[in-house]
Amino acid sequence: MRFLDQFFQSLRRQILPSACIVCERFQQDSICTDCLQSLDADSLLNYECCYQCGITLNTLELAKQRCKQCSIHPPYFDVTYCLDRYEGALQHAIHQLKYQKRLAYAHGLANAWNHIFSIQLKNVLANYLLPVPLSTQKLSARGFNQSWEIARRITCNPSIQKLPWALKRHHHEFQQVGGRLAARHLAIQGVFYIDDHFIDLLGDQSIIIFDDVMTSGATLNEIARILKDNGASHVTNWVLLRTAKAPHV
Ligand SMILES: [Zn+2]
Ligand SMILES: [Zn+2]
Repeated sequence: MRFLDQFFQSLRRQILPSACIVCERFQQDSICTDCLQSLDADSLLNYECCYQCGITLNTLELAKQRCKQCSIHPPYFDVTYCLDRYEGALQHAIHQLKYQKRLAYAHGLANAWNHIFSIQLKNVLANYLLPVPLSTQKLSARGFNQSWEIARRITCNPSIQKLPWALKRHHHEFQQVGGRLAARHLAIQGVFYIDDHFIDLLGDQSIIIFDDVMTSGATLNEIARILKDNGASHVTNWVLLRTAKAPHV
């Protein structure tokens, strides 16, 4: 099967050129070598970031490898890995995927993740990987969950099982932009829950949450809170794009 997959992928590359998700030039892959190289050179992996929330650190925070915000108010999640800044080269691709519903961009974004992050995250061990869910209403309107469409295509340690349906989301209109961080934490409480079928499965387990964009961290914090309240032992965030600075903290 693996051989057949590789054969068809190679055949597709030969006869069906793709537009690069960053520079939009037609070539063989969903993201071109030049764009991958510049993304790799400028990704957040090259910067000192808070191990817990993934934000870039200032010089006073370097010794602890943790930002001031996480030191004062530790979030429920334990570790965060972010590929790139929200303001970086992949922002256009995320917008195309989410707002123009161009599903092909999920391939390119996963491709970028696999090229740049695969070695770094190869040895990250966990039991399960869960995408941040959309509500049923949002899912019907968009047609797909962008976090899952990327997460399902990323390479991770084979011992990590991907579970797209374990986390659920009520349809509350949660406004991401504006407001103080405390207000956003309050606004998102009760939005997520674990599907009854998965509650026993996730207890005492190490879990990775995959999100396309992390802004204030309120969403991921609430998900980690629910998971830990239900017995999860460790929560790691894998995030494609991180805003450079948590606004209004
Ligand atoms: Zn390109
Ligand atoms: Zn932090």
